[in-house]
Amino acid sequence: MPSFVVRPISGDITQQVRTTRRSPQYGHPVHEEVARGTGPCRACLRAFTVGVDRRLLFTYSPFEEASLPQPGPVFIHADACAPHAGVGYPAGLAQIPVVAQPYHDDGSIAAPCAIPLGEEAATLATLLASPRVRFIHLRHAEAGCFIGRVERAGA
Ligand SMILES: [Zn+2]
Repeated sequence: MPSFVVRPISGDITQQVRTTRRSPQYGHPVHEEVARGTGPCRACLRAFTVGVDRRLLFTYSPFEEASLPQPGPVFIHADACAPHAGVGYPAGLAQIPVVAQPYHDDGSIAAPCAIPLGEEAATLATLLASPRVRFIHLRHAEAGCFIGRVERAGA
C-alpha cells in the first residue's frame, strides 16, 4: 500500500493571515469568530471545539500549478497552532466527513469520491496506486471546502 502525506496550508500563508488579517492571495479581509462548526483547522488539521476555539476565515485557492484557481473559504485557528506533519491520514480528521478529488497528470480531474468515515487511509492509498493520479485534494463532504492536499510520501 503506497504511503502518503496530507499537506496542510503552508505556514507562509497561515502566518500572513494571522498577521495581516487579509487573504494573502486575494486581499479580502479575514473574519474572526468563535467556532460554530468543527472545521477542521487547515493548519493543524484538527477539528475545532465548537463554542470554544477562536478561528479565522479567509479566502484561499489550493492551486500551485498553472490551473483554474478554485478560491473558497477556509478556517484556521486564530492563534498559532502546530502545523500538521507526518505520513498517513491525520488523526485530527477522524470525525470529519471528506471527499477525495483526484487530479491527473494530464490536467484532467476525476469525479469526486466520498469516503466513508474510517476508510480514509485505505481509499486514498487505492486512489494513489493509479499512476495517472498526480495528487488529491481533500474537501469537506458537506461544505465542499478545501481541507488539504494528498501526495505520495517522498514526492
Ligand atoms: Zn490549528
